[in-house]
This record gives sequence, structure tokens and C-alpha cells, in this order.
Amino acid sequence: MTRLSRSIIGEAEIAAVRTVLERGFLGMGKEVECFEQELFAYLDGTPVACVNTGTAALHLALQAIGLGPGDEVLVPTLTYVASFQAVSACGATPVACEVRESDALLDLDDAARRVTERTRAIMPVHYASYPGDLDALYAFARGHGLRVIEDAAHAFGCRYRGRKIGSFGDVVCFSFDGIKNITSGEGGAVATRDKQVHARVCDARLLGVEKDTDQRYRGERSWEFEVSAQGWRYHMSEIMAAIGRVQLTRLDAEFGPARVSFAARYRERLADCRNLRLFDNQGEHIIPHIFPVRIVAGRRDALMQALNAQGIQTGMHYKPNHLLARFGGGAPRLAVAERLWDELLSLPLHPGLALSDVDRVCDITRGICGAP
Ligand SMILES: *Cc1c(COP(=O)(O)O)cnc(C)c1O
Repeated sequence: MTRLSRSIIGEAEIAAVRTVLERGFLGMGKEVECFEQELFAYLDGTPVACVNTGTAALHLALQAIGLGPGDEVLVPTLTYVASFQAVSACGATPVACEVRESDALLDLDDAARRVTERTRAIMPVHYASYPGDLDALYAFARGHGLRVIEDAAHAFGCRYRGRKIGSFGDVVCFSFDGIKNITSGEGGAVATRDKQVHARVCDARLLGVEKDTDQRYRGERSWEFEVSAQGWRYHMSEIMAAIGRVQLTRLDAEFGPARVSFAARYRERLADCRNLRLFDNQGEHIIPHIFPVRIVAGRRDALMQALNAQGIQTGMHYKPNHLLARFGGGAPRLAVAERLWDELLSLPLHPGLALSDVDRVCDITRGICGAP
């Protein structure tokens, strides 16, 4: 069986978890503090707050910029439902925007038409780890007076114009769930140089107990405390941080190069297929989390079945959110995203593959997609 994606956990992660378990303190303490310090260094000195999922990271980031009922956030419709649920968790409205055919990223021209006096923020999604033109995105946000919450769930370890995603910009959210570029079991993080947003996220992850993070990193707890904002139980555990710390050391040496080489092989071997379109989403240093392609001429489902018959899993990232009952009632109205939804197929991509697995996927795909 060739899986679409999977967690890559080795002896070092197991040993790190064992150490935490034997230490007998599992909540949030020095392991999480160390992981945050290492992420701070990795992101060139950007403060990081770790939480228990990428969705929680998005939710707390949005809450920390003061988002609430009546507010609107511009979001590309082609994203994991986590992006939309994080906005609605604040009582705000996610406004589904069209995506571009070339790279499935947010279409800024369409977003411009959806700006109202209630628009407070824009949430670009770095689909397949590609951030697109962030200069244009930030210029758009400045022009409309919007905060930017980057959904960088796919893009940990990637660079934009030489700088790491998360090391610059407004507020950047990562996911460390089991199949992302690195994992902490489940997990996520908010990276921002905005001190107030950072402090609010730190408090809100611990039920809003003010400055409890500092206490916990000293191995203490706040007993006589103050709470003035809505909080949640979203903190990261020591077990998760132990896994994440090991994974972080493996990203640039091991996981990144593997993902890059498999994606390059797909590109090289599938470029001449008549009924397959590659996305124009390569940057200088992109570590692809997924490898979606477009299968045209109505061949997508046939390819999916042919691969499945050979034990090869595929995926479809993602069902456009405006087609969901909760976020638009299902009425079709964003033509590019809807067409992509009919054409999208994600091929297996994870560091546990061999080049021969990728070649087998390519052979079958070439057979179905009109290779010369
Ligand atoms: C994975 C993902 C999230 C949410 O992360 P979780 O850690 O799974 O909660 C958000 N947005 C996108 C685009 C994702 O792929």
C-alpha cells in the first residue's frame, strides 16, 4: 500500500517521549519552553506560542487581533475547513474568495470585490506550501487596513525571498499535525513579532489565566490569578513538544530534501501528459506538503480508481468551503475553485516514499493521462 501521506517517527522521537513520560510531568512545562525557543531560533528570532492544533493556532490568532461578531475575514474557498471554522469560532464571518487557476492561491482581484466596511483581516493559505506573491498580499492588506493571518499550515520550513515563512509578516500560523512537514503528534504554533498578539495567545491557550505561561515554565502554577478575556484549553503538552523538538532537527537534513526530490520527480515525469496540468507553484525554497495536480478532460476519477486498484492512495485538497452547508449553503458561485474541485488529485507525498514508489505512480498516471 502506498499511502498519500504518513507520519515519520523514529527511535529518537520514541526516546524523547519516553524521557518525558519518565519525568512524570506531562502538562506544559520546560519541554514546551525549549521547543518554543528552538522555533524562535529557527524563525530568526520571531516569538512563537505553541498550541495543541493548527486550528487552535488560527483561532487564537484571530481572537488576539480582536476579531468578533460582525467582522469579516477574506479566505480562499479552496482550503481545509479548519481555516473557515477558526474564523467562525470567533463569531466572525469567513468570506469565501475565488482562487487562481495557476496555483490555487487566493485571487486578490476577487478578494478586492468582497471588501466591505466590516472586513478586518485577510487569511492567505499557502496551498501546497507555496506562498505566492506575499509582497502583493501585504500591499493589499495595507491598502485596505486589514490584519494578515497567514494559514501557513503547509509551509513550515519554506522561504519567501530568502526569508523563512513565519520570520516576517503579521501573524503566521503553523500546523504540526501528524502529516505536516514536521509533527508534534498533533500541534500548532503562532509566530508573530506583535507583542500584544503573542501575549494574548499565550494567555488564551491556558483558559485566559494571565501570565500563567511564565509560571508553568518555572514549574509552578498560578493560584491567585486574573482572567479578563475568553480563553481555551489549547496549550501544547510536554509529550507533543518532545516529538516536535526531534522533528525540527530532521526537517532540513532529511524531510525537506525527500519531499523536494519526490515533487521534482513528479514534475519531470508528468510534464508531458496531455490531460494533466502541473501547478505553477515552485519557489526558491518550497518544501511541498502535498502534491496536487489537475486532471482534465474528465479523467480524474478514472485515474483515482486506477491508482487505488494498485494500492495507491490519493486525495482531493480541498472541497471548496462555500459548497459546505455551514459556509455558503452549497450554492455554486466561484467558478475557478469549483472547476479545480472537479480536477484536483493529490498524489502520494511523504518522506517515507522511495523514488520507485513515485515512479510507479507516474507510470500509471502517464497511462491514463495521455502521455506521448
Ligand atoms: C492542517 C491544516 C490546518 C489545521 O491544522 P490542524 O493542526 O490539523 O488543526 C489548517 N489549514 C490548513 C490549510 C491545513 O492543511
